[in-house]
Amino acid sequence: MTSLDSVEKVIIHKQLLYLREKALHELDQERTFTRDENPLKESLDFGDYGKATYDLDMGLLSQDAVRHVLRMIENALLKLEEGTYGTCDRCRRNIHPGRLEAIPYTPYCVECQALLEKDER
Ligand SMILES: [Zn+2]
Repeated sequence: MTSLDSVEKVIIHKQLLYLREKALHELDQERTFTRDENPLKESLDFGDYGKATYDLDMGLLSQDAVRHVLRMIENALLKLEEGTYGTCDRCRRNIHPGRLEAIPYTPYCVECQALLEKDER
């Protein structure tokens, strides 16, 4: 069980909410692009064209990947509420702080993540 001080908790909470917004936004955009099939072929003025290209460029994750990340973010927010944030969902040991810093919504420690990825292959 990791004991986070309240300042850390607030920062992580903010970070997770920000990432959730970003993911939700990403899903919104995917929907828009699926609806009108070729958004870039519409007669856009130069500014709009640049914006659309930028958005597409930034949407590096597939919709499934974004949904997956969103689930992990929701899970991390729950764990933060419960006071179990920072522990691995699989082995219940503490996740390395450096890893949490890089991926604040990760549910697993490095060891478990590696094992799970090996299973998937
Ligand atoms: Zn683990």
